Amino acid sequence: MPHPEIKLPSLKLKRREERRMKAGHLWVFSNEIDIRATPLRNFTPGELIRVDSHDGRFIGYGYVNPNSLICARLLSTEPKMIPDTGLLTDRIGAALRLRQRLYDEHCYRLIFGESDGLPGLVVDRYEDILVVQLTTAGMEAMKLNVIEALEKTIKPTGILLRNDLPVRALEGLKLYSEVASGNVPDEAHVRENEVMFRVPLTGGQKTGWYYDQRDNRSRLRRYVAGARVLDLFSYVGAWGLIAARHGATEVHCVDSSAAALELLRANAAVNHLDVSVTQGDAFDVLAALADSRRRFDIIVLDPPAFIPRRKDKPRGRAAYRRLNRQAMQLLAEDALLVSCSCSHHLTEDELISEINRAARQLGRRIQILERGGQAADHPVHPVIPETRYLKSLFCRVTGF
Ligand code: SAH
Repeated sequence: MPHPEIKLPSLKLKRREERRMKAGHLWVFSNEIDIRATPLRNFTPGELIRVDSHDGRFIGYGYVNPNSLICARLLSTEPKMIPDTGLLTDRIGAALRLRQRLYDEHCYRLIFGESDGLPGLVVDRYEDILVVQLTTAGMEAMKLNVIEALEKTIKPTGILLRNDLPVRALEGLKLYSEVASGNVPDEAHVRENEVMFRVPLTGGQKTGWYYDQRDNRSRLRRYVAGARVLDLFSYVGAWGLIAARHGATEVHCVDSSAAALELLRANAAVNHLDVSVTQGDAFDVLAALADSRRRFDIIVLDPPAFIPRRKDKPRGRAAYRRLNRQAMQLLAEDALLVSCSCSHHLTEDELISEINRAARQLGRRIQILERGGQAADHPVHPVIPETRYLKSLFCRVTGF
């Protein structure tokens, strides 16, 4: 059999730049390439390549994007495993085995990019429907192979491509959303903590449902009996309706999206749960609630990422602090604040520090009861910190 590795063009690293990849990292940065030996401009975005060390040793196969700061991502470090539909099928199979072990129902994140050995690919599963995001030029170029491998492994009745996320612009990709195969309904159903949710697929946010918070929403159940709950950044009501189902006496949900709140109301009705909603900017609604002197026993803060890029960090940290402070002002004497952040640039310790500063500004104290992260269908890659992004801190807020 011919050596498959010789078929792909080589991208040569500078001296000693293979060390991070030897530790398991999958990214190559453009300043790590020996551009005299292998000029980046000779490659087209998304092309398959092999990465070689400076002295010509095989490091791995991957795909290249000469226009991106992360100029290559590895798909395989086995000389015999060339990236093709077979490799994708193997990786998807391995990812599926994990999720089948974790969950009884087929509702979960099936593929979480780098963490599942498939950089640039995210797939969420809603029973027989798959919602796919291709975030890099390399994955976009393998689109047909990805769909073929998913069809072979999962046999879905429909695959929706939600390629409308802004990060694609960094890779020079256009934004679009289309049905890639079969039929895709406008909505799917997800059951979580004894609540049935209608989830928007074609018109929803991201892939439709935030599976990453599943375990944290389960944690909430034991706190809610008899509580007045405020669910900020509620989307279609995941936290709030679970609180209502498990004994909260009053639930108020806030989101800026009218479409999300419309579905939230429908979700409440289907489950015979009673919640009230306000559409608006969370900061404005908090200010209005403070004026009205309303008090809550539990407030959940699950905002979008305030620090999408590193340079947003100072402004983002201040926004987290302000949000937490405004929320704490509405808390009863001895209450619970569930404060989340999905910004990977903000560490758990930094979030704790912002919550604590907010509390101290108000003369209150916090005790951290539980520290949740993303659910196990969003595995963390040990050397890619970007894959470890979600923090959900359960803080008791007291006056002493
Ligand atoms: N808590 C949800 C996920 C929240 S995602 C869940 O568990 O499913 C973030 C939500 O914040 C989105 O629904 C978005 O519409 C909303 N949002 C974004 N900016 C906002 C703002 N300034 N005020 C209120 N809601 C906002």
